[in-house]
Amino acid sequence: MSNDVKEPRQAPASPPWLVPTAVYVHVPFCAHRCCYCDFATVAGQDDLRDRYLDALEREIAGIGSPQPARTLFIGGGTPTHLTHLQLERLLEIVRRWFVLRPDYEWTVEANPGTLDAAKVNLLADFGVNRVSLGAQSFHSPLLRFLERNHGPKEIHDAVRLVRRRIENISLDLIFAIPGQELSTWKRDLHDALALGPKHLSTYGLTYEKGTPLWKNLQRGKVRPVAEELEQAMYEAAMDTLTEAGFEHYEISNFAQPGHACRHNLVYWANHAYWGFGLGAAAYVNGVRSVNTRDLAAYLRLVESGQPPRQSEERLSDLERAGETAMLQIRRGIGIVRESFAEQTGYDLDALFGETVCRHVESGLLEDPGPSIRLTRKGKLLADLVAADFVYLHRLGH
Ligand code: SF4
Repeated sequence: MSNDVKEPRQAPASPPWLVPTAVYVHVPFCAHRCCYCDFATVAGQDDLRDRYLDALEREIAGIGSPQPARTLFIGGGTPTHLTHLQLERLLEIVRRWFVLRPDYEWTVEANPGTLDAAKVNLLADFGVNRVSLGAQSFHSPLLRFLERNHGPKEIHDAVRLVRRRIENISLDLIFAIPGQELSTWKRDLHDALALGPKHLSTYGLTYEKGTPLWKNLQRGKVRPVAEELEQAMYEAAMDTLTEAGFEHYEISNFAQPGHACRHNLVYWANHAYWGFGLGAAAYVNGVRSVNTRDLAAYLRLVESGQPPRQSEERLSDLERAGETAMLQIRRGIGIVRESFAEQTGYDLDALFGETVCRHVESGLLEDPGPSIRLTRKGKLLADLVAADFVYLHRLGH
């Protein structure tokens, strides 16, 4: 940070970075825990689903009165692993506490093999207008490696079922799976495109500490794909999907024009959002909080009338600015100088001028003037560039 950092400017009343109109609700139950999964999930505890919904309702009721929502996202876990009745109850709770704006987006995550026509009808009848399906791969051996609970056929069946009522479908895909070749990955991309989704998320497989996959890595039982191959796979996704008319609007996300996930754009803008349920994060009025990931603790805390928080912190203005830069640089539009200044109260170049210059020189960032954004080369090293923004502000430059 250079010496001419100005004092924060005055923010407008009810700005979207302080007052949330985005809602995340977490449903942790899964039929089976996949080997790479590091989410707040539980398998084999289906008997706790009703009790969990009771607690979730109680936690949400803590907001006091119904609130307006532009985007809702019910994620997991596997929300569609709830029974029909339980899913209906969940949707009722959400509708009771959140008043949908006319142009709302309401996403529910689902896994292939967990949907039937009745559940799809239920979702659509309640107003869900976007379904995100965890496809991950169209190759049976790779799905088996990931310990997914479905095969390629179930992905096709799920898309067909959902599309009868809900047009806006997103598919998640994973690359850099041990044993996966570039040609296999390209086929996955083409198989996904053939299903006509509006949105695709592509993630490189990560080895999160503590997962069975990570343990197998430590024991030498799994060999990750070479870094160059992983980069080639990411580039293949960029080329294949943009050629197919998709916009690369965030590092891992591609959408047909007009179909970017508005809920996730809230996170990447560093705007405010509610979060409810096991392990859920929230960012309300400048306070960032995360719920416990321990299901028993979550139930105990909510049932005894306490907030189920694991952590809660109010960020300083400078910390907020650093986080905002780190998140916004992930977007296709990058960081827009004017809106960054309005949102954070700081001039981007006063805070991060040196970082921007260095990365422009090394070809990782481009700076057309009103905004800065990642180049193609920068997208391959996005985490490194993003971390640099945070690094600088932590050092207090
Ligand atoms: S289905 Fe998704 S949330 Fe559930 S265990 Fe597998 S990766 Fe985790």
